[in-house]
Amino acid sequence: MHKLAKLDQKYVWHPFTQMRDWLRREPIVIISGKGAALRDAHGKTYLDANASIWTNLHGHGHPKINRAIQKQLKKIAHSSALGLANEPASLLAETLIKTSVLNRTTGIRNPKLSKVFFSDDGSTAMEVALKLAYVHAQRTKRTTHPRFLSLEGAYHGDTVGAVGLGHIDLFHKAYAGLLFKTDKVLAPYCYRCPFNRARPERADAREYRKCNHECIDQVEKKFAAQKRKGNPYAAFVVEPLMQGAAGMIPQPHGWLRKVAEIVRGNGAQLIADEVMTGFGRTGVTQAGSLFACHQEGVQPDFLVVAKGLTGGYLPMAATLTTQKVFDAFLGDYSEFKTFFHGHSFTGNQLGAAAAGASMGILAEASSIRGRQRLQQDIAEGLQSLWTLPQVGDIRQVGLVTGIELVRNWKTRAPFALREKAGIRVCEAMARRGVLTRPIGNVIVIMPPYCTTQQQAGNIFAALNKSIREALGE
Ligand SMILES: *Cc1c(COP(=O)(O)O)cnc(C)c1O
Repeated sequence: MHKLAKLDQKYVWHPFTQMRDWLRREPIVIISGKGAALRDAHGKTYLDANASIWTNLHGHGHPKINRAIQKQLKKIAHSSALGLANEPASLLAETLIKTSVLNRTTGIRNPKLSKVFFSDDGSTAMEVALKLAYVHAQRTKRTTHPRFLSLEGAYHGDTVGAVGLGHIDLFHKAYAGLLFKTDKVLAPYCYRCPFNRARPERADAREYRKCNHECIDQVEKKFAAQKRKGNPYAAFVVEPLMQGAAGMIPQPHGWLRKVAEIVRGNGAQLIADEVMTGFGRTGVTQAGSLFACHQEGVQPDFLVVAKGLTGGYLPMAATLTTQKVFDAFLGDYSEFKTFFHGHSFTGNQLGAAAAGASMGILAEASSIRGRQRLQQDIAEGLQSLWTLPQVGDIRQVGLVTGIELVRNWKTRAPFALREKAGIRVCEAMARRGVLTRPIGNVIVIMPPYCTTQQQAGNIFAALNKSIREALGE
């Protein structure tokens, strides 16, 4: 075993990992990365098919991001945002606000985003949105006990408040006593929707579903019921277009728009968790927006970004919000209306410099063309998977795809979690030089934007063979 692998096993405790399984075999120790490829301590290379857990945008070792970090490093790595402003964070805040403008007129009353609160990762950025929305609802006299509504299976991070906003049973059981109560509503999971009367077909379930959009009625009913209780919802929290950690569950066209109308019609706020979907992950659109909610003509009151913000190079996050929310925290010092929240590394210069460079790359014509081509390559690569009986649903939204594995596609019968179907397929892929991580029985394919046509081909060839190897013909 490599000496670094030994050290890891001796000292490091890994996230979301059954460490007994971890300690049974030599871990892959990553030493370097270039573009879409990672290299381990033995010199073996792998394709980074989930963009290092959904963070990396333009590939590893991108010269422009590297240079931006090096240039900033020559000036300073970090100074506090408590009491001090700094160069790259000011510039980045302006870029984020300008990039967040919704260039599309729709019937919805959309707010304008004008302020940026920086933090360190997706969870903290969600905590910021949660606290701001909570206090805002109280100060505007909407309610004394602000309540939040989010989707079944939702994941919004691992800090206690963010876990409270989510609805993954496994996590809720573990921390039940620590969490505040939130409500959940049916997620538009067409493939396993109780209202979908269609028999399984060899296509994305959104395309052949038979229903009456009951998922939207359910949201409407939830809002009405909560209003009758005399405590209308403070905010609706959602990952626009695609729920990530819930299992890559995409929303049918028009869902977000209609739900946003319900939220606004009820006077509640909309918190868009774009930690996974932001920065072009959900595809290139005509209007050129980098955010998923804009594809449905929706502007939230809180736009939460992290993972890809720095191109996936450094931990940094941001919560964008409106002047209206900002104003609710203004007052005389002695009124103590200050937003009492902050992190040591808020507005970190190296992170902000990397993010600025990443945003610059996203605006380049070659990046836009590359993403369009990759989206097409992914769509083509996925086609070959329909011949496999263990593939139940394939859900592509732009540059993100979830492939749901089932025991039998004709019945949608699932594999039991303890059978580790997803884990076994991903282990077989790793042996073929392709790295990704499953969500239960869903295989995630989300490669960096620089992935070449040939690399994309290799990813799907490895996936195809690995499903057959791990789950039988
Ligand atoms: C990853 C993720 C988070 C949490 O972000 P961290 O940086 O891991 O804290 C929150 N929301 C969504 C949608 C995510 O994908």
